[in-house]
Order: sequence, then C-alpha cells, then structure tokens
Amino acid sequence: MKKLQMVDLKSQYEKIKEEVNNSIQEVLETNTYINGPLVHQFQADLEQYLGVKHVIPCANGTDALQIAMMGLGLQPGDEVITADFTFAATVEVIALLQLTPVLVDVNMDDMNISIEAIKKAITPKTKAIVPVHLFGRAANMDAIMEIAAAHNLYVIEDNAQAIGANYTWKSGASEKVGGIGHVGATSFFPSKNLGCYGDGGAIFTNDDALAHTLRGIVNHGMYERYHHDVVGVNSRLDSIQAGVLKAKLPHLDSYNQARRTAAKKYNEILSQNENIVVPQFDWNGNDHVFHQYVFRVTNGKRDGLLAHLQGKGIPCAIYYPIPLHSQKAYADTRYNEADFVVTNQLCKEVIALPMHTELEDDQVKFITDAVLEFV
Ligand SMILES: *Cc1c(COP(=O)(O)O)cnc(C)c1O
Repeated sequence: MKKLQMVDLKSQYEKIKEEVNNSIQEVLETNTYINGPLVHQFQADLEQYLGVKHVIPCANGTDALQIAMMGLGLQPGDEVITADFTFAATVEVIALLQLTPVLVDVNMDDMNISIEAIKKAITPKTKAIVPVHLFGRAANMDAIMEIAAAHNLYVIEDNAQAIGANYTWKSGASEKVGGIGHVGATSFFPSKNLGCYGDGGAIFTNDDALAHTLRGIVNHGMYERYHHDVVGVNSRLDSIQAGVLKAKLPHLDSYNQARRTAAKKYNEILSQNENIVVPQFDWNGNDHVFHQYVFRVTNGKRDGLLAHLQGKGIPCAIYYPIPLHSQKAYADTRYNEADFVVTNQLCKEVIALPMHTELEDDQVKFITDAVLEFV
C-alpha cells in the first residue's frame, strides 16, 4: 500500500509533471515573475470555467476575503454575519477591518450556515452575509440570496473549499459556486481542490464597477501608475503560481470527481456503523466536491478514534476543534451558548480522514477497517 497522507500532492504532481514544469519554465525563461502573461491567461481561463465575468487574482484566500470586503466599502461598525463553524480566516478579516463579526450557528446535516440563525441575527447595522461552502458543499444560496435581497445586504461567498462545485437553484438552473453572491473569494493553498505550489487566491464578481475597484485595491489602490486613489494593499498571484494553476485547471473537474469517488467508498463502508453519521453526498442536485471528508462519531469516541488512527499511522484531523465564538480572539459578551448548540456538538463529534485525488482502494479499506474496529 502506498504511504497514507492527508493530502498526496506528490502523486498528483507526477501525473501532470510535464505541463506544470513547462509552465514554470516559461516564467523562468521570460523573466515575467510578477504580473506576467500567465497570470492573465489563468485569469481568463478561470473566468470561463466558472462562468463569472471577472476574476481578480491575489496573494491568498484570506486576502481575497479582506479585499472583497474593502471593495464593497464596508465601514467600521458594520455587522457581518458568518458561520461559527469554519476556519478562522473568515472572521479574522472581518475583525481586522474593524467590522463587527456576528457568528451564527450552522446546520447539523450539511454543517453550513443556518438560515434561521441568519434571520435571527439581522439588525439595522447588518451589511453583509459571508456563507462558507464548508468542506466542499454549497450553502443554501437560494435562501441566502433571498434574505440578502429582502434586507439589502451583500453576499460574500467564501469559496476556499468548494471551487468547481455546482449549485442547483430551486428553479432547476445550475451554476458554479463562487460567482453567485455579489462577490466570491477563493484560495489556491496547495491542499485546496485547485491548489498551487505556494500561496494564491482570487476574487470573483459579475459587477464591472466592483471589479474595477478590486483591481485597484490589490495593487496599492492604483488605477493609473503612481496615482493612489484609494487605500489599497499589495496582494498578487505570482506568475509561477499562475502557471501551476493554468496547468491544473483543466484537471479540476476530474480531481473533484476523484474526491467524490473516494468519499462514496468511505460512505458505503462507514454508513454501516450506527455510531457514525457520514456526510450527505448531494442534496437538491448540489454536488459536494469533498475538500475534506468529515464524518461524525456520535457515541463519544471521537477523541479515542483520533488517537487510535494516529497510532496506526493513519493521518486524520479535527476540522474544527473549537467554535469561533469560543476562541479568545473572537469571544464577545453578546454571544449566548444556547445559540451555538450545533457548532458546539460538531466540534466534539467531527473527524476528517485522508482526502485527495490519489486515494486508492486498498488505502480506503485499510483506513475504514481501522475506523470500524474502534467505533
Ligand atoms: C483556506 C481557507 C481560507 C484562507 O485561504 P488562505 O489561502 O490560506 O489564506 C479561507 N476560508 C476558508 C474556509 C478556508 O478553508
């Protein structure tokens, strides 16, 4: 059996070595490290793939979220609603910009932001909602876009974990997540579904004026050389990373399919155990692209399972062990534990198994055997 890893980037690279090496070589030969042609080519390829009018590449996914909020003109004190159960980057940038984060609970079934909780949290100061398509499955965008329209709020999609996932509207129409809200943000961190070999990120929007604003912000607030119209940042996707991404983008659909195939195998085996709740595969026609394979252990043996798997050399992880509202940096007296029942429970029950594009059947069998013998 091949060595088990949480993410196997080496085996993936071996299969696309030539395309990736050629892209990197092109940058080295042409000395176009910053803002080179490959950045623009990748940007155009991604716009076409996502069906979104504007892609603005930037340095990482956290910057992408921050710049999206800057571009929308959110002001200190504006309230921004986001999920309590997610990676901290989302709430971090809200706080950094001196906006007021409003963390709300998630659903037990899809682990995404709860529509009821959003409705309860809206005040006259609310300006935006940031749904996170957690672990690769889209949040309920029909309901979120409806609430946003009714209350005149912006929707900023945190699409760091779900690039390539399709969202099917109640009407039956389908589109890629990330381009649904007013603005979307993604990360190309190496382990993400579309990952480069360093840091990278991008912002998406269909709004021409907002796209123009964002392109200035990523470049020191410059719209004309050495004319700084707004306060910006320096956030670039470098040409080498763009080259890697341009080579990998044509494989994204098959990569996501490989993740789904692995998840299906995990589900088939693990769902037989009454103390395990496996992730819902698809719902309402929305596909899950399994950035992570996360299941729940409902008999109190989650921590024991973690140790058991680690003892057998099986990589595994807890995404996420502590609710954001309980983190020192984001604690707030406004929060009431009774409002975070689901997140509190998920943090005690979830565990993630290896998930990547190169998982083999014997690996899945070895991993699931080890899970079942313990739970
Ligand atoms: C990875 C991730 C980010 C941040 O991306 P970076 O490129 O690491 O800055 C933001 N939000 C979520 C949900 C993520 O998983």
